[in-house]
Amino acid sequence: VTKHFPVRGGLPVRGGGRKVVHAVEDVSLSLYAGRITALVGESGSGKSTLARLLAQLHPLTGGEVRLHGEPVGALRGRAFRDHVRKVQLILQDPFGSFNPVATIAGTLGRAVALHHRGKRGKERTAVIDDLLTRINLVPPAQFTAKYPHELSGGQLQRLSIARALAADPEVFLADEPVSSLDVSIRLGILNLLRRLTEERNAAMLYVTHDIASARYFATDTAVMYAGQVVESGPSEAVTQQAAHPYTQLLIASAPDPSRAGADRVRDIGQPPSLIDPPSGCRFHPRCPYAMERCGSQVPGPFTLSPGHVAHCWLYADDDEARTRRAANAE
Ligand code: SF4
Ligand code: MG
Repeated sequence: VTKHFPVRGGLPVRGGGRKVVHAVEDVSLSLYAGRITALVGESGSGKSTLARLLAQLHPLTGGEVRLHGEPVGALRGRAFRDHVRKVQLILQDPFGSFNPVATIAGTLGRAVALHHRGKRGKERTAVIDDLLTRINLVPPAQFTAKYPHELSGGQLQRLSIARALAADPEVFLADEPVSSLDVSIRLGILNLLRRLTEERNAAMLYVTHDIASARYFATDTAVMYAGQVVESGPSEAVTQQAAHPYTQLLIASAPDPSRAGADRVRDIGQPPSLIDPPSGCRFHPRCPYAMERCGSQVPGPFTLSPGHVAHCWLYADDDEARTRRAANAE
């Protein structure tokens, strides 16, 4: 998929601006039932835009989104609404996503009414209780009459997961679901998301800037830089045998609690403007291994091991690439 936003004076506009932000460029990504795919990158790399494209919140500039192999763009009316229901977005800020004057029963009741049309009265209450139990807000009776401001950030994020669950989703798109929460409760929310994904055999896209959490939490990892996926594959391979120089930089600059010292936090520089992105490999102005072709030709993808792919000229099959690759391996 590709997404360009028109801009004027640096701000997005509707319709005809002449400049465009190349927010997502020619990205291919697969999500699988029962698996969690982490989408990792710095802020502004296009991760959230990609998640929103998958949720059909923006029209595509190019490409196609498919669910079970069916192009979603061709769906109309009821079929389109059914699709939207199956793909649920969970956002970073749980505080901003609830009606402050609706009780929890009211908020979940609306979601249940929308997705389980036949259910009223006691039946609807039973569904609400079941949702609250599944996200561990128990006993449900203690929570149904509360308002959002009476819950903690973690409880609210659980509630937004319950609201997504009400739709019986097949795909969860979780955009930085724990980054606004206290460190001490992040693991609990991630474990809940993992359990629900496995129980439902759903697919999950886990958007994060934290590559360490990707390794812990996700079966597969895709690394995004400046609107493009630069490396993807099983999380183990991407994080333990990172091939793309940008992935290596991300890993080297991630705070590692097991290694002491402020020298662990390195300044990794600024990502490029997406209004006028670098030609060829978008990482070439920052890359210590850049070769001549990197400035003009878009690299790869090159397959390194089953499922592990890097978009980088270092993995081309020629002498110059081999020499640079050896330098990188040191
Ligand atoms: Fe560096 Fe070239 Fe690989 Fe881009 S394609 S990451 S510039 S070596
Ligand atoms: Mg974002």
